[in-house]
Amino acid sequence: MYEENDYLQISGFQHFSLCRRRWALIYIEDQWEDNWRTTAGQIMHEKAHDKNVAEKRSGTIIVNALKIASKELGISGECDIVQFHKDDAGVYLPKYKDKFRPYPIEYKRGRGQSIEADSIQICAQAMCLEEMLCCTVEKGALFYGEPHRRTEIDFTEVLRQKVKESAKDMHRIYHSKTTPKAIMGKYCNQCSFKDICLPGLSKSKKSVKEYLLRGLRN
Ligand code: SF4
Repeated sequence: MYEENDYLQISGFQHFSLCRRRWALIYIEDQWEDNWRTTAGQIMHEKAHDKNVAEKRSGTIIVNALKIASKELGISGECDIVQFHKDDAGVYLPKYKDKFRPYPIEYKRGRGQSIEADSIQICAQAMCLEEMLCCTVEKGALFYGEPHRRTEIDFTEVLRQKVKESAKDMHRIYHSKTTPKAIMGKYCNQCSFKDICLPGLSKSKKSVKEYLLRGLRN
């Protein structure tokens, strides 16, 4: 069990799954570089969070910007949207005098190129809801901006295991305060940290000085 002071941000799971170095640059070194992709993503989240209230539509309760945390995983954050669907096997909500099962929805920019990383993030949200509400959350959804539709995600044992392993690794690296080395991939081309990270340096057998001089000459 983790103490609140040690909690890491749930939004970090997506970065960590795509590139551990990128996660460390944001959460250990406190660097943040915007490009049009990160800005578009922020706008989508602001839209999702513009009403921090619960409303009931056709028997479903919809809650925006719900704060969540897990002592077991040592993480905290916020769900874009949680729908509570009426379900006899769900959690009893006294205000609505009935049982409901939570169904988290996460808004994402783009067409779902990073669906595995996004699935780990939303599964982490589901595991927080389970711990907080003492219920089972079987499914949730990712809402991608470009096709403008939902992709339903099953919170399988395999996905849950990935969340647990990622959380453990994130805590270990965070406490070591060591930023992992770059592993260059095609994802680097779209990364807003490229100019800070200099991923080419990790492949180069030349010195940092030679690499920078070559960059200045080009
Ligand atoms: S440029 Fe590549 S290696 Fe560097 S942080 Fe971005 S994704 Fe990771």
